[in-house]
Amino acid sequence: MFERRVTRQISVGDVLVGGGAPVSVQSMTTTKTADVDGTLAQVYALAGAGADIVRITCNDVEAAQGLAEIVPRSPVPIVADIHFQYKLALAALEAGVAALRLNPGNIRNESHIKTVAKAAKERGVPIRVGVNGGSLDKDLLEKYGSATPEALVESALTEIRYLEDVDFTDIKISVKHSHVPSMVASYRLLADTVDYPLHLGVTEAGPLPGGLIKGVAGIGTLLNEGIGDTIRFSLTADPVEEAKTGRALLEYLGLRERKGLDLIACPSCGRAEVDVIEVAQRAQKALEAENLPIQVAIMGCVVNGPGEAREADIGIAAGRGKGHMFIKGQVVRVVPEDEMVEALIDEARKLVEEGVEARLAAADSNAEQLSRLAREQLVEIQGDANDAASKRARVAEVASG
Ligand code: SF4
Repeated sequence: MFERRVTRQISVGDVLVGGGAPVSVQSMTTTKTADVDGTLAQVYALAGAGADIVRITCNDVEAAQGLAEIVPRSPVPIVADIHFQYKLALAALEAGVAALRLNPGNIRNESHIKTVAKAAKERGVPIRVGVNGGSLDKDLLEKYGSATPEALVESALTEIRYLEDVDFTDIKISVKHSHVPSMVASYRLLADTVDYPLHLGVTEAGPLPGGLIKGVAGIGTLLNEGIGDTIRFSLTADPVEEAKTGRALLEYLGLRERKGLDLIACPSCGRAEVDVIEVAQRAQKALEAENLPIQVAIMGCVVNGPGEAREADIGIAAGRGKGHMFIKGQVVRVVPEDEMVEALIDEARKLVEEGVEARLAAADSNAEQLSRLAREQLVEIQGDANDAASKRARVAEVASG
């Protein structure tokens, strides 16, 4: 397990960021901020999908006024996204936001930045220094020739200096880039330079599936090195996907407790006794509707399925026209194949309600035996792919014959 980088801690509303706090998930609304009800509906959807913090653009006076109504009704802390106009940062503070994001690429005036920092300090509101490779200060672009990691980090450090000059240290930083290796290099360089908490993201990652892959590659790599205190996937998709994806990545890396379903399934092969893709899709749809916080396995054959997926909370494997349901690797029930998904959902619900011990105690007494018989019959028909000893002996026989 990787060691998390030690950072300072800040509070975005009631969400702690850095200093050993759980890595938080962020997303951003796509509605017009002046549309208070529409924006709030999206904030609630994002919070429900796993976002701990939501960012909202504050691009004009109407947006700032919208924030004044959104903030007190939001279930999660709101960050105002500020570009170009520092006065909108002051307006957002007046509206009560929990944090500001300033883009050093387009708010460059030192005295304006210091004015915002002083106002934020008075209210105990942190600032994210949000550098973006696509909107880097043109002087830095000229100096470095392109948006290099050094250029991104210099942009962040210049802004931080302005903030520290007025004794403002309630800071988190991002150095986002749309090119994954540059993004990773930028954050590594920054992590070696400062101890402020870092907000990770691959900017303008694009639509699915490419955007998702870029985000996982960049954010996942850094998290695995212990770098990163809060994350955002920037997908060209419904932002609910960003929140879901962010949450799922943290759960898969063991950085957050599982809140929802983790469906695993074998990739299927010539031994499969059922259409694994179709069964997995049906199970996923039904299980997601239930939102059970468990790991569920769908396995194509009973010969290898229960053993390969023994770590799963519950699973089902096909064999000889039946579904062999198992809990922690132990077969507890054998059901007709066309009822296997429904039976799985039913047992999964009971498992969450009653716990593993109770459901193992309620197992059908003949299930293990029925399953063993099916396995033996399949091995007889298909051969035992796991019988390495006899295979090695046969290979040696052929080689020396
Ligand atoms: S569980 Fe069975 S069907 Fe699925 S990949 Fe393994 S051997 Fe093949």
